Amino acid sequence: MNNKKIIVAIDGFSSSGKSTMARELAKRVGYVYVDSGAMYRAVTLYALRHGMVNADHAVNRKELVAALPSIHVSFQPAGADGVQHTLLNGEDVEKVIRDMQVSALVSPVAEIPEVRERLVDLQKKFGEHKGIVMDGRDIGTTVFPNAELKIFVCASPEERARRRLKEMQEKGENVSYDEVYNNVVERDRIDTTREVSPLRKAADAIELDNGDMTREQQMDRLLSHFDEALKKNCP
Ligand code: C5P
Repeated sequence: MNNKKIIVAIDGFSSSGKSTMARELAKRVGYVYVDSGAMYRAVTLYALRHGMVNADHAVNRKELVAALPSIHVSFQPAGADGVQHTLLNGEDVEKVIRDMQVSALVSPVAEIPEVRERLVDLQKKFGEHKGIVMDGRDIGTTVFPNAELKIFVCASPEERARRRLKEMQEKGENVSYDEVYNNVVERDRIDTTREVSPLRKAADAIELDNGDMTREQQMDRLLSHFDEALKKNCP
């Protein structure tokens, strides 16, 4: 049964639209979707809630690493709203993990090797039976280096900041373009320069610059890459 399924790894910069693409692809082909960024966000929320962030906005690594065994991140299948919800120790935190406060701290948390190790192990387990679309920063390089289809999504930081701002404003968040732009650029910087699993395009990933593409065009392109990968790997 499983030999008819593949793994799709979608990596890219913050707010490049990769989650929307990944979620939509999974829905269309009947695969499981996993938002790996949500997992780093949930751990960040835990740190915030447990006083592990000091006044200078630095995370207490030692405390967070010690608490890792009591941090459980899971997903609830999509409900009526069609969105899969992230659970932190059983609590639905889908909305709060998208707050600016979490966004501002998540990249420093994701730099911590022990945090990555734990979440990467969990991500690998999600892919054991294939039939999965996972998006993130190191999915094609570290989590699933043998994924049958790897996509690397990019768009300019300005375009990404505009999209993110629109998304946040629609949710009623009161943020400025500059705030969002600075967060996008800072996360790019940390994500691409960290020591463990920095964000980079896997050698065998297909680059998809979606700056000038509509959602439908992106999906058409993605579906044709998917069909090709399926034919090649599950003839
Ligand atoms: O995808 P999203 O922007 O929600 O991810 C939040 C943050 O989590 C990223 O900026 C990055 O620092 C971290 N991340 C990561 N590795 C992943 C997914 C996300 O380091 N696979």
